[in-house]
Amino acid sequence: MNAHDSEKVVGTLVARGYEQVETPEDAHLVLYNTCSIRDKAEQKVFNRLQNFKREAGKGKVFGVLGCVAQQEGEKIFDRAPHVSLVAGSASYPRLSEMLVQLESGNRRVTGLNLDTDETFDTPLTRRDNPHRAYITIIEGCDKACSYCVVPFTRGPERSRTGESVLAEAGRVAAQGYTEIQLLGQNVNSYRDPSPAGWDFATLLARVAEVPGIRRVRYTTSHPRDFTKAIVDAMDANPVLCDHVHLPVQSGSNRLLAGMKRLYTREQYLQRIEWLKTARRPYALSTDIIVGFPGETDKDFQETLDLLDLVQYDSLFSFKYSPRPNTAAVGMADAIPEEEKARRLAIVQEKQRAIQIRRNAELIGTIREVLVEGRNAALGQWIGRTSDNRPLNFTHPDTQATDLAGRYLSVRVTRSGPNSLVGETATVV
Ligand code: SAM
Ligand code: SF4
Repeated sequence: MNAHDSEKVVGTLVARGYEQVETPEDAHLVLYNTCSIRDKAEQKVFNRLQNFKREAGKGKVFGVLGCVAQQEGEKIFDRAPHVSLVAGSASYPRLSEMLVQLESGNRRVTGLNLDTDETFDTPLTRRDNPHRAYITIIEGCDKACSYCVVPFTRGPERSRTGESVLAEAGRVAAQGYTEIQLLGQNVNSYRDPSPAGWDFATLLARVAEVPGIRRVRYTTSHPRDFTKAIVDAMDANPVLCDHVHLPVQSGSNRLLAGMKRLYTREQYLQRIEWLKTARRPYALSTDIIVGFPGETDKDFQETLDLLDLVQYDSLFSFKYSPRPNTAAVGMADAIPEEEKARRLAIVQEKQRAIQIRRNAELIGTIREVLVEGRNAALGQWIGRTSDNRPLNFTHPDTQATDLAGRYLSVRVTRSGPNSLVGETATVV
């Protein structure tokens, strides 16, 4: 989502006559788009701002965008006095206006208002990925997970109209994109604000029908709002990719309640059951937080048992990081950092073994990949399957230079924990 926000910001700047340069050293205006989901990401911004200013930042104009900007607000001017612009994502619809203030020499420009029903719905997006186009369908979040800073940094939920999403999908298809990824903090709670009132399952079905689009992905889902209608829509149209990312966070009902996730382990497993009994196989991935305050050995074991039960195809795991403004920040029974690190390593080791086994089962099968590029050093093309696995492969025409963007059938010959290797299959 941050990467796509940057694409929209760059597009807006370029439309105003700015030029994108290769390095910050070459730039007159340096904007940092920031993440504050965990403390480490936040610290990085301040280190970079300080170091760059010292080494090469003389005479440049600096801005801080995104969640750290929203969270720290005008305090950033005190901590890094060379910064002139501080704006959170909810203010990006006003970006052009803020740029005018900056250009007219104003050295303290802010965009920190969260009280908005606007989305940053811009036709000016400058896309970095030549094959996959990101399309935001909903901004902000109305949930209140007790560990999460997002509702404070991205503001309330605002859905775009279905018409505007379809218009953007049509535009990117006309530009030659064949894959779309729909984005939102909780795409499942999408609700078209126009009288049509489409829900997420309806929007998915409509986007999948846009001529020229061969793959549609979406992220992120929230288990509470993930409906059977979404699985039915996916089953009905294979353009909707064979992958669902459904963050569980913990396998313990006690912790899920403490996290205010609004579902139980049993309700979560019901959603997994819909996907496992669907008409075609879906790869599953999730997010896990270890070391949430009060997490006992028993709670942690329940998370490990859930991994055994679900057999995810991939997983993102994080040590709990206390965030300002959140309900969990003051909770008792903090888990020591070393213990969080120990639990994280156990989760990752278990998941690695699961992935090694699951990927090995695919050896010998033929999968369709979208070719994303070439790894010249390995003499391989880089591909991705509909179920979101990297599948790198060799091609019989060793002189081929133009496979990127094509869809090819590839036979899997080897596997590792995080990717597959194969060769172009001769389709008879
Ligand atoms: N809206 C999405 C969701 O509900 O899953 C994504 C939220 S966040 C950008 C992505 C992941 O970061 C979360 O699923 C969670 O696992 C992790 N995360 C969020 N806050 C965290 C925190 N305070 N400490 C550690 N991990 C956190
Ligand atoms: Fe954060 Fe929860 Fe909203 Fe996801 S659903 S963005 S974890 S508050």
